Amino acid sequence: MSKIPYKIYLNESEMPTAWYNLRADMKTKPAPLLNPGTLEPMPASDLAPVFCDELIQQELDNDTRFFEIPPEIRDFYKMYRPSPLVRAYCLEEKLGTPAKIYYKFEGNNTSGSHKLNSAIAQAYYAKKQGLKGVTTETGAGQWGTALSMACSYFGLDCKVFMVKVSYEQKPFRREVMRTYGASVTPSPSMETKIGQKILHDHPGTTGSLGCAISEAVEVATSTPGYRYVLGSVLNQVLLHQSVIGLETKAALDKYGIKPDIVIGCAGGGSNLGGLIAPFMGEKLRGEADYRIVAVEPASCPSFTRGKFAYDFCDTGMVCPLAKMYTLGSNFIPAPNHAGGLRYHGMSPVLSQLYHDGYMEAISVKQTDVFAAAEQFARVEGILPAPESAHAIKAAIDEAMKCKETGEEKTIVFGLTGTGYFDMVAYEKFHDGKMDDYIPTDAELEASFATLPKVE
Ligand SMILES: *Cc1c(COP(=O)(O)O)cnc(C)c1O
Repeated sequence: MSKIPYKIYLNESEMPTAWYNLRADMKTKPAPLLNPGTLEPMPASDLAPVFCDELIQQELDNDTRFFEIPPEIRDFYKMYRPSPLVRAYCLEEKLGTPAKIYYKFEGNNTSGSHKLNSAIAQAYYAKKQGLKGVTTETGAGQWGTALSMACSYFGLDCKVFMVKVSYEQKPFRREVMRTYGASVTPSPSMETKIGQKILHDHPGTTGSLGCAISEAVEVATSTPGYRYVLGSVLNQVLLHQSVIGLETKAALDKYGIKPDIVIGCAGGGSNLGGLIAPFMGEKLRGEADYRIVAVEPASCPSFTRGKFAYDFCDTGMVCPLAKMYTLGSNFIPAPNHAGGLRYHGMSPVLSQLYHDGYMEAISVKQTDVFAAAEQFARVEGILPAPESAHAIKAAIDEAMKCKETGEEKTIVFGLTGTGYFDMVAYEKFHDGKMDDYIPTDAELEASFATLPKVE
């Protein structure tokens, strides 16, 4: 066979026409969302004030295997997809490993990450429903940027609550969002009842995704013609992100390549859930086996140190409860933790799969992540997002194990985005001012103590 090219691209005609719903193949389905007031499973009618109608159908559907991607969304995808699957020849050579390393690069769009894949879908369904606008939260800023782009494309109003620490550290992200017409408010803010309460209880807080979600939901549910949209964690987001995995699998299949290990970083689980979807599907159906590895920060270790329990998705406890690996909705990662992956919980789909032993999880330290990011940038050229660099770190470690054993494993990882807006964090790393705060057991126990009592 001819040498595998540096980049495997699909033709437009080879792009997926349907999203794959991994839940259809799960023997144990993810647990249902619960109403925060009654603790009963939430029917579509309970969710309707918060989310768009068609997205609720996708959220609750554990059985339909494929959802057609509407042509309007496919047209938008064609502006920046298919994304390349890159063979990391230069990295392999530098490491001197017999492993074959591939990465699926999702950073080739202005939002700089995979988040646009779901943002455009969510904006489409909001527009189709005749809504005026949507509200959301953003942490590092990629989701807010992606949603602003999607909303401007479909002519929707977009109101973003941005975690205060990021709002201050990343003024350029904020301006990108405003360029696309979004309004951006630092969270917690005085604009909402919940924001006022959080500021009263925790003066000087740098905010968290959990706070920002509560504020965005409050505005959506109290403003006619608005709904709330979320960039990760939810089943519907994993569904949209399956486009990553479907393209990856199609590209590998073109050359008859079967990965041994599939690696992704895990914040709320959307890129990982999307990347692994078709591979995990084969695994669940008993057609193939793969090692699937989630990589999370040691400073926010939901899988590796969290509890599998029902918890609130937000600090204000206004959102539905989800059964997931969680650090407790009051958990706020140390402010010296850079970039995203700060969320206290994890996708219920991935949580169930992890609980049932279908995937592994590891945590990595921040300084090791930046060292891997730099190593990668210097040979592969792309300047990775700190989030993505968690996967890079794990992929390099696996490749180095292969160097010891001489195994020619095929490693695929998700390179979810670029890090141009994370230069303050890179600067800290270069100046030796970055540290590795890891929460103590006592801190986690204090947070677990606030988990709601369900069952
Ligand atoms: C948001 C983000 C992540 C983490 O979110 P998931 O939902 O876990 O995928 C990872 N990488 C980048 C570049 C992101 O923007």
